[in-house]
Amino acid sequence: MSDLIDAFTTAGTNKGLYYGGAFQTAQTKAVVDVINPATATRFTTVPDGSLADVDAAVAAARSAFEDWSALDPIDRARHLRRFADVIRENIPKLAVLETIVTGRALKEMKAQMGRIPEWIEYFAGIAMGLEGESNVVKGGYITLTHYTPLGPVALLTPWNHPILILVKKMAAALAAGNTCVVKPSELAPVSPLVLAALATEAGLPDGVVNVVTGGPQTGAALCAHPDIHYIDLTGGTGTGRKVAALAGERLVRTTMELGGKTPVIVCQDANLDGAIAGGLFSAFVASGQTCVSGARFVVHSDIYDRFVTGIAARADAIMLGDPMDDKTQMGPVISQTSKDKCLLMIAQAKMDGAVQVAGAQASDLPAPFDEGYFVRPTVLKDVRPDQELFLEEVFGPVISITPYDDEAEALVLANTGNFGLGCSVWSRDISRAHRLSLGIRGGVVWLNDHHRNDPRSVWGGVRDSGFGKENGWDALKSYMTKKSVIVRTVDGHDDWFAGSKRYG
Ligand code: NAD
Repeated sequence: MSDLIDAFTTAGTNKGLYYGGAFQTAQTKAVVDVINPATATRFTTVPDGSLADVDAAVAAARSAFEDWSALDPIDRARHLRRFADVIRENIPKLAVLETIVTGRALKEMKAQMGRIPEWIEYFAGIAMGLEGESNVVKGGYITLTHYTPLGPVALLTPWNHPILILVKKMAAALAAGNTCVVKPSELAPVSPLVLAALATEAGLPDGVVNVVTGGPQTGAALCAHPDIHYIDLTGGTGTGRKVAALAGERLVRTTMELGGKTPVIVCQDANLDGAIAGGLFSAFVASGQTCVSGARFVVHSDIYDRFVTGIAARADAIMLGDPMDDKTQMGPVISQTSKDKCLLMIAQAKMDGAVQVAGAQASDLPAPFDEGYFVRPTVLKDVRPDQELFLEEVFGPVISITPYDDEAEALVLANTGNFGLGCSVWSRDISRAHRLSLGIRGGVVWLNDHHRNDPRSVWGGVRDSGFGKENGWDALKSYMTKKSVIVRTVDGHDDWFAGSKRYG
């Protein structure tokens, strides 16, 4: 296992930026504090990358592009499988590092890290099977297509799944033959630096994976760089609008994986225990900080009271505490700002008439966790569709529950607002479940489950939740351009200005 991860797990380690196959001293002296959210103490710092730092990282990606893109996909796949193996060897250490920086329970991070290598193996595999098409067309021509990579690409990632989201993007980008510059979230930038170093340890050529840390300005400088030919962002909808505008000016293609307000529809014929267990997971895994967190529960009035009582009791039993402790079921939220937002939205929901049925007790954690950004899993019932809590993303462990009487009303409630990312439907009636699924606006629908994610299962939203896809062939192809080649098979040549015919 890599000693490097031990160094980064030690508080205060700052090795600079990572590009050209090595850690590099940043050209800026400015740093960003990285806070351990479980204790609200500074864990370490990373450089707050300047324009010159962005330039240097992009230059490394540019100089690596020619050789990496020229490799046969079979040879690129071999490199990528080795990278996946190195990640797999380091899963226990990576899980600890993710937990320190995000505050997410170690149990969650161990489960998530276990599947990370699959994304790399999957994209390495399908890239070898990428096929163009060929046609014989009018006039004695053969047309054929093949895919080519785009160049150095920018990967802008959030803090909630620092490794998972990065690997989803990076695996597709690299398998397609691009090189990348990563700008991780300023709140959780450590594991992406480590991942880049593991890529080098696995034998990926220098400059294929580069990381420049810093805040929004660093991200904006990267997006504006003339040598960046694709931008893949996962982040808030506000950030998406800014980055898409910048990309529009440069005519650079983008993928926008943005925010959501995921509905959970629980029908009268649902397996109630299953819906409560699944709903609880959807709402409170990652302390409610996933883009598809079950946030807005829409529950049939026949089972409303039983569902509310059941999920509230289960929410109140969730154990908060030291994220490193295997018994801990939920960690803190990421920051004081995030905690304040949760508390404000709970207070506002109650002022608007909602009734709090879980989460009222104090967290009561011993030092040093008494200072951490903990918010108890909170359930509010009787939330009306015009309330802020029904409409706005909390990005924390706070859910709303609203009753409905018929399917048409369930769909109106689920589709309220402008997001369109995930949705789950809980019903034992297969026709009803599919009917609802057809009527839902969104990019991912789970029937009798929630949050299942797999490299083969496309992922992405519509409207304010963004556009473009992660996972699957769509993601690989979004990182390439399809070139069309037209071959003349007829002997001789045309001479239009000497009277030859054209266009049939
Ligand atoms: P964020 O928008 O604050 O930051 C995302 C990344 O963009 C960070 O690296 C940040 O530094 C960078 N950035 C911010 N402003 C920028 C700018 N003007 N130019 C260039 N880069 C900029 O998001 P966050 O708080 O890290 O993540 C939470 C948000 O992400 C939530 O809204 C959540 O729903 C969303 N999210 C979406 C998905 C999805 O798959 N759709 C997955 C996870 C998270």
